[in-house]
Amino acid sequence: MKKQALPLKIGFASVDITPPKGVPLSGTSTLRPNEGVLHRIYAKVMILEQEGKRHVIMGVDAVGVKSELIDRLQERTRKLNVVSIICNASHTHCAPDLYDGFYDNLDDLKVVGLKNNFQKQVENKLVRLIEEGCKQLKSGYLAFNNQEEARFSVNRRRFYKGEWQLMPNFKAKIDQRVSVISAYHENGALMGVTYSYTCHTTTYYSMNLVSGDFVSVASDRIESELKVPAVFLQGPCGDIRPAMLNPEKPEFFGKTTVRDVERVGEELALAVIKSLNSRTKKLKPQLSAISAYTHLPYQMEMSDEKIIRYQKFGLKKGEKHTLEILSTYKENWFKKMLSRSIKDRQKPFTMPIIGLKFSDDLTILALGHELGSGYATLIQKRFPQIRILTLGYTNAMVTYVMPAKVIREGGYEGDYSNYCCGLPAPFSEVSEAVILDKACQILDEFHKKR
Ligand SMILES: [Zn+2]
Repeated sequence: MKKQALPLKIGFASVDITPPKGVPLSGTSTLRPNEGVLHRIYAKVMILEQEGKRHVIMGVDAVGVKSELIDRLQERTRKLNVVSIICNASHTHCAPDLYDGFYDNLDDLKVVGLKNNFQKQVENKLVRLIEEGCKQLKSGYLAFNNQEEARFSVNRRRFYKGEWQLMPNFKAKIDQRVSVISAYHENGALMGVTYSYTCHTTTYYSMNLVSGDFVSVASDRIESELKVPAVFLQGPCGDIRPAMLNPEKPEFFGKTTVRDVERVGEELALAVIKSLNSRTKKLKPQLSAISAYTHLPYQMEMSDEKIIRYQKFGLKKGEKHTLEILSTYKENWFKKMLSRSIKDRQKPFTMPIIGLKFSDDLTILALGHELGSGYATLIQKRFPQIRILTLGYTNAMVTYVMPAKVIREGGYEGDYSNYCCGLPAPFSEVSEAVILDKACQILDEFHKKR
């Protein structure tokens, strides 16, 4: 017997989280002064309610969000019957840090105080945002479309002069589809959209101004054209960035301007608007959520003895440690490692995985950290019959998490970024299987044959 679609309610809300001057900007492995605002930044939410249970899908203009923030949001919104939270950071590099990434070596207590205060304010704003989204809940339906593309992204890992470097690699196959989940009132009028694309929000990030990068431009354009809220959700863009090339040496990335941010933002907005005009498939919602975790193993153990020996005498013959090439990070890393107990240093690395099943043929799988794009392909391959929208940068942020192939190759994302982000060692290649197992468990549970 065919199942009857259960009634669905949908609500949107948004809140301005533009920081005051003094709260530094983050995202470039350093903290930068905040000298003003190019684009105001926001947190936006789409809330779905079915059978009294509420699911929060939130997009935040931030480099990343820490897991403690999500725990507190969950705690503070339980009374609203919120059963799942996807809090996805756009990864803009022109916003303050919501995960304390680069504060380890900052001893300016005034700045640390400003940052802590800002984080507290954002937490309160996000609670109110969820409350407001719940107040806005109205009967409606959802549709999904991923037929349009935006062509400005490129794989940023290229094998050049004997190693994997941060260079445009047009030969690597990437997914440039724009995934749009559109929400409609029962009378067919558009209520709001969420749109997802996989690309580092780093079109123009070396400036000291607040901005959501291309997301600011795209969401602005969509909202003024369609007169409804637009929520951006970042895909697994750990190894994907905007293709801004050096005109003289196009094999390298080049300098950019605000105009470039506008150009790519417009392109993304047009893809979203176009996808709403084409045939979109109405979903038969059967919402269900699983919020899970898994733990990723490291390549090696870092004992005190090993760290001290390495700090004092360098490496033993035949030993490899890519930290050698990162002289600016090296001393900080030693300091950080030795200040932590062995137990703390070897604490398992937590990867959140949140599954939100929309319907029999669509599920969002949202993972934490700077996830490599290869995961979307690996997960989709296991479940070819279901459309899976894979997100990164959700509910936790510490470092890059790459598939086994990239870990094997090495370079920034697969190897030494993990040291820069304060981990004792890069991840083991086994971490790929660990993530896929958990993802498959969730998808099996959602889509098991009945
Ligand atoms: Zn990044």
